[in-house]
Formats: sequence, structure tokens, C-alpha cells
Amino acid sequence: MKISKSKFIAGVQCLKRLYLLVHARELTGQSEGSDQAIIEQGREVGLLARQLFPGGVEVDGSGGLEAAIRTTRELVENPDVPAIFEAAFEQNDVVVKTDILQRRKENLWRLVEVKSTADLKDHHSEDVAIQSYVLSHSGLKLASVWLAHINRSYVLSGTTVDPRQFFLFRNLTTRAQNFQPELKLRLREQFHILAAPKPPDVPTGPHCIDPVVCEFFYHCNRPRPDDYIGYLPRLDASAMEKLEKMGIESVHDIPADFELSDFQRRACTAIQTGQPLFSEDLKAEFGSLRYPLYFMDFETVNPAIPRFSGMHPYDHLPFQWSVHVQREPGASVEHCEFLAMDRSDPRPAFLSSLSKALGETGSIIVYNQQFESERLWDLAGWLPEYTQRIRDIQGRLWDLLPVVRNHVYHQAFGGSFSLKAVLPALVPEMTYEGMEVPNGQAAGLAWERLIEEKLSDAERQAKRQALLDYCGQDTLALVRLLEALQHRCAT
Ligand code: SF4
Repeated sequence: MKISKSKFIAGVQCLKRLYLLVHARELTGQSEGSDQAIIEQGREVGLLARQLFPGGVEVDGSGGLEAAIRTTRELVENPDVPAIFEAAFEQNDVVVKTDILQRRKENLWRLVEVKSTADLKDHHSEDVAIQSYVLSHSGLKLASVWLAHINRSYVLSGTTVDPRQFFLFRNLTTRAQNFQPELKLRLREQFHILAAPKPPDVPTGPHCIDPVVCEFFYHCNRPRPDDYIGYLPRLDASAMEKLEKMGIESVHDIPADFELSDFQRRACTAIQTGQPLFSEDLKAEFGSLRYPLYFMDFETVNPAIPRFSGMHPYDHLPFQWSVHVQREPGASVEHCEFLAMDRSDPRPAFLSSLSKALGETGSIIVYNQQFESERLWDLAGWLPEYTQRIRDIQGRLWDLLPVVRNHVYHQAFGGSFSLKAVLPALVPEMTYEGMEVPNGQAAGLAWERLIEEKLSDAERQAKRQALLDYCGQDTLALVRLLEALQHRCAT
């Protein structure tokens, strides 16, 4: 039985996670392609970091671990090789591959772990410590241990990313050394757990999502019934703890004198009676709507490596919008949309087309105003000639999310006020089920594929349609949701 670096880190998070990764990997949940996107992003960041080590040689891992270890040894012994990428080592049944090993003077080496995060995290110490452990036991002398992570303040100027400015280097030599005694204990414990006939009995808890969301989350955290107390909106940890101490798991069992906010009490009643809650003040919210109504939604990607001038790492790059327009009460809706179709900078065409579509007056209805408003500010920073126009647009934004959150509750929300949770409860004829692009993350992935040059025309057309269908569905959902709420107030 061998333990790799990634398994060791998984085991530090949770011993059951380590056990299941080795013995029952089939129990992992569906990743919907997001894992692949994270891996791809990490790969791109890693390649960029290699530019800082010219002359470095990559160890080809395609021939298996033994061959990679052999090649690594040859490269270490060759003084003409200034740096090694993906060097492989094994010691005491622990296997690691290092991002970058840089040759220093007097047979010393500098270890660099590259992360596509914007900051140093606690678990990065464990990451470099396990590498230091294996490398040292393999006879390699480490001068220092570093982490290279993304500099969030970096701004792309021109078209080429400068890796010297893009990365920040943190010296983790002392942290890696300090972790060695604990590391040995942890390794002993992990080998012991892996040899056991069944997984350890680890209760679920905050560690299931920290430092990463565990791939066995849905295996260990079984779905709760609709009346689970944790689904009561804005229930804080102490109220939750009190209820658990009272042995209460169902909202149906919450006593009438248990302290809840007014809204929670009404939501509690909605669940207990099975009747949705609509507050008496809901109707008044609609008094500030001004026709024509524009229902608007954006789609974005936020790449670690900025693609266009003025962008920081992880800035949102908008590539698609959808707007439904209702010119007067009861009128049928018109639809307009934009989708960037190639790898060129989508921002100018996105903004100019959106600006035309939104007219000069009327409320612009969104769901979660903060997101759209921030994206508009980003655009104003990149395209300052639109600043006044963007201010005007922002002044017309009208957010449906707080209206629902403050005035409506339905048992089927399951404690969430996301559009995907609210829509099927209040507008049951509309659903995202079966859509090729079912959510924003999938939309970003689909767009990245769409603008890849290797797609056939038919594939490109299919991806384009799936994206248009999804974003159009989001704004039509706002139209129908507002109608449903107004209709409810009128009855
Ligand atoms: S879901 Fe939680 S308890 Fe289950 S394996 Fe993952 S971290 Fe451990």
C-alpha cells in the first residue's frame, strides 16, 4: 500500500476520506465537470510558473512511476539541468511528484510548489511538508521550500502575462520543518487506517467542506427531509444547537414558544401547515417597479490567468447576456441576447449591445443585484467611456431576490432562496431539469468549449444553442416569477 501526496492531504482532512479514496472510490459524487476545470486551470498556472525556470526539464510520467523515478534520478545527477518539473520520488511507501525543483549551489535544491490560489492556506504547509519528507529521505538536500501562489493584485497590461509579477513566492521552509514530527505520526496513523477492514467511523462536520469540499460529501451527508430544522431560513448555530439538544430534527416539532424571528416563525408555520407563506407587505414591494421592465442576466467565467488587458487574476469576464422586455403590464415579452462566439475580447461587444438593449427608462430586474452590479463596475473600469451609462443602468436595477427572501417561503425551497430552488416551487411549469446547461458553472464550462477552435460546426452550433437556452431560461424565469408573485398579491 502506497500513499501519494494528494492522499496524505486528503487523510489530514479526514481519515475516512482517505480510506474511501483508496478502497471505495466509486462512492464519490458527480462533479459536473467542475473538477476537470479546476485541474485544467491548475495545469495552466503550473505551465506559466515554469517560465520562471528556463532550461527546466519535465519528467515524462506516461511510462509509469518506476520510469519517472528513474528519469528523475538521472536528471538530478546531470549538473547541466537547472530545474526539474514533475520530479517523482518514493520513500517508505510515500510517493510525491514536485511541481518545480531548482538546482542551487553545492548540490542543494529549492523546492517550489505552485498553487492556483490567491493566498497562502494552512493546508499548504502539509503539502510542502510531505514533499520535504520524501525528498530528504531520498537523499536530496533541500536548501529551501517555497510556495508560488497567484498575486491577486496583478493587472494584465497588453497581451502577455508576466510570470514574475503574476506569482508571489512564500518561504515555507520553517513551516515544513516544524510539521515533520506531526507528519510522521500522521503517516503511521494513515497506513494503520488503510490496512483496516472497514472505514473509520468519522462523523460529518465542518471538515467535510474545509479545506476542500470532500468528494464523498453526498455519500456521508445523506439528503435531509424537507422539514429538517437546518432548512429554516437564517437559523443561527446557537438556535440549531438548542433544538438538537431538545432532540428536535423536524420543523414540525418546534414548540410554539421556541424563540424565532418573525420571519422564521412564519416560515415555520408554512412548513408545519404545508401552505406557502406570502407576507402582507409583499404587494408594496412592487410599487417601485417602472415600465418597461427589463429582466436581465449575465454569464461569466473567472479565469485564474487574466486574458485581456486591465484584468486581474480571477476577475469575471462576461461573455453572455439575456434580456426579456415587457413594455407594459400584461404585455407579452420580447427577448434579446448576446453570446461571444470566439476567443477575442468579448467585453466591448457585450457592453455596447447590452447598453442598446436596455433603453433609457424602466426597471431592470435581476436576481441578486450584487453580482450584476459588480460586473457592471468591472466593465466601467475596463471601458471608462461607458461609466456614466453604467451608472444610469445601475440606478435602474431592481432586485427580486430580497423581495422573495423577505416576503415568501415555501417548504420546497429547502432553506435556499436561489432561483433554482425558488422557481420550481412557485412556477412549477418551469424547470432546469434535462437542460444541457443546467447552471452558471456549466455555462462557463460550455462557453470555454464553444470558443475552442477544434469543435466541429455541428458541435459549435449545439453548444451555442444550449447556452442561449440556459441564459434565456434564467430571464424568462424572472418574468414568470414576478408574474406569479404579482398574481398572488392580486388574489
Ligand atoms: S464527507 Fe466528511 S466525513 Fe465523509 S469522508 Fe468526507 S470529510 Fe470524511
